Amino acid sequence: MTAGEALAAAAARLRAAGVDSPARDARILLAHAASVDAARITLIAPEDLSPDIEERFVNLVSLRAVRVPVSHLIGEREFYGRRFKVSRDVLDPRPETETLIETALAAPFGSVLDLGTGSGCILVTLLAERPQAVGTGVDISEAACLQASANAVLHGVEARADLRKSDWFDGVEGRFDLIVSNPPYLSADEMQNVQPELQQHEPRIALTDEADGLSVYRIIARDAARFLSPGGRVMVEIGWTQAQDVCAIFDAAGWQTIRVLQDLGGKDRVIQAQMAEI
Ligand code: GLN
Repeated sequence: MTAGEALAAAAARLRAAGVDSPARDARILLAHAASVDAARITLIAPEDLSPDIEERFVNLVSLRAVRVPVSHLIGEREFYGRRFKVSRDVLDPRPETETLIETALAAPFGSVLDLGTGSGCILVTLLAERPQAVGTGVDISEAACLQASANAVLHGVEARADLRKSDWFDGVEGRFDLIVSNPPYLSADEMQNVQPELQQHEPRIALTDEADGLSVYRIIARDAARFLSPGGRVMVEIGWTQAQDVCAIFDAAGWQTIRVLQDLGGKDRVIQAQMAEI
């Protein structure tokens, strides 16, 4: 079978299984099976596949057809131009979270706290982009902390990243110029309607608070000021329909300057809040 034929057959199978981007996924999986760069797949398309590559590819496609995410099959996901190791223990880095990165990089900071760090993609990216900065990343999941540590090492920021197990602020000490978080913000109801990739393959505690999707914002709005340097900022990712609710939560907790920022699709995606200068 040529690579081209194998790709066409795989794409048809993935389409029938309800996968969103069947042709693209097939290309990425073939590249992985053949250990070549995904951009080179079209070059090998007319060639016959070796039996072991074909077997690896068919196995990967079978797993994708039962909606295992591509990132889990290849073990990594790109985020803000870097590759992050991922697994079932952490939320996959998502493109909308790059809005949080852009917002953070527009602010001055020498220290950053990332609440619910997961894969570490936010903290590691910020430290990689700001070589003088130091950061703390916390997660209640030990497995997530290990995953974040591996990603910190992968991108050479481990000496500046303090990664530790903590239930939000419980184990945090000190003050930070910036506090960032992409908390679980789906409500228990919304969680029932998410795609199989999320429902079955991503950690539920990273996606939903099992309540109205706003619980973690209440915790952050209540406690973050005690962990901020004077003039410091809080930046949190939100679901695109939550801006009004989250602004109201920060407002009620006494935060002064509250701004809503949009992602590349024009959807409300990040809330930034500051206390008045102390
Ligand atoms: N943006 C995620 C989604 O795909 C939710 C992530 C989160 O809860 N932080 O629905």
